[in-house]
Amino acid sequence: MKMTKRIEQIPPYLFAEIDKKKAQAAAKGLDIINLGIGDPDLPTPDYIIDAMAAAIRDPKNHDYPPYEGIAEYRKAVAKWYETRFNVTLDPDKEVISLIGSKEGIAHAFLTFLDPGDVAILPDPGYPAYHVNTLIAGGVPYSVPVTEENNYEVQFDQIDPNILDRANIIFLNYPGNPTGATASDSFFERAIAWAKRHNILICMDNAYSEVYYDGQKPRSILEFPGAKEVAIEFHTLSKTFNMTGWRLGMAVGNAQAVQALGKIKTNMDSGVFKAIQWAGIKAFEHYESFVNTQNAIYQRRRDIIVDGLNTLGWTLAKPKASFYIWAKVPAGYTSESFTVHVLETTGILIVPGNGYGPGGEGYFRISITSQEDRLVEAIARLKSNNIRFA
Ligand SMILES: *Cc1c(COP(=O)(O)O)cnc(C)c1O
Repeated sequence: MKMTKRIEQIPPYLFAEIDKKKAQAAAKGLDIINLGIGDPDLPTPDYIIDAMAAAIRDPKNHDYPPYEGIAEYRKAVAKWYETRFNVTLDPDKEVISLIGSKEGIAHAFLTFLDPGDVAILPDPGYPAYHVNTLIAGGVPYSVPVTEENNYEVQFDQIDPNILDRANIIFLNYPGNPTGATASDSFFERAIAWAKRHNILICMDNAYSEVYYDGQKPRSILEFPGAKEVAIEFHTLSKTFNMTGWRLGMAVGNAQAVQALGKIKTNMDSGVFKAIQWAGIKAFEHYESFVNTQNAIYQRRRDIIVDGLNTLGWTLAKPKASFYIWAKVPAGYTSESFTVHVLETTGILIVPGNGYGPGGEGYFRISITSQEDRLVEAIARLKSNNIRFA
């Protein structure tokens, strides 16, 4: 069979490769501690499951959903943005449902890039940005986000010669894989820059509800002028442990949201209505749920960061996300370190270069495992003399 160039240029999915290595280690009898993929281990809360169970029995939820989302869901999203971010959204024009935010992100490249158009992407960054730029026939342009600059995109480092061909920039704060948050002044600079160069900001805000010490991450839409230049992608996956449910939303600039909707009407038929009803319930009790959950993540974060720091690292505690992003010890690459850790300790971590060349020299730990497993992971590193030195 002849494969398209589109298919052939897609690199192997990072976690498929990691799963292979994990299976090999498990076959050797190692007890695997999985600190790899960022998929919440905690269950979807019962109150959401109950809402789903009731909705699924109602035949009026069994037909094709409206592709843009049922009105009640879009209203619930707008209401949540109002209470959480103090951002007012028109549920009819500025909100659309997504089958998980990855779906909306993937379709954004088809919506906003003509073949040959440039997408400016953070490196390291969520791999879907790069791959979907290629699938859409666009040209990825990487902009480094580094520890020295608090992982904030340096707009003056972007080659001025590509700005004419650039249509979109993806930003992701709190960031995967770095856990970095952005300052208020960064959001303001991003909006001014986007306006000046007529570039659409695609803000990926998947982790806005996983935060610590009461420091709530912000939506770009909180900042003046954002609605003229930004669309924000959001998801219930990480907030409510609903990764398998596939429910998210895109909000913000009406023209951008409507254009994305136009692609979506021709590509998918929306989200199962019962799932949208469950999502409406999720938002109703979000505050108490999120507070309880973040207390759990905070204890886990502290076990890992304090633990690594006793082994020679000097990590600051991330303010948000469930990721710890750290340098590999001298003498290792990202890949050789993660393989060494897996083979000697059974601990699965992710090589930083899987998120782009800018991630080389780093690894990512996801704290989506129980506390006792995290304590055990630190003990295993220690007993195998794996240190940062
Ligand atoms: C997990 C994740 C997503 C996608 O989540 P969905 O389950 O598709 O909503 C998007 N962006 C980032 C940065 C993520 O880590």
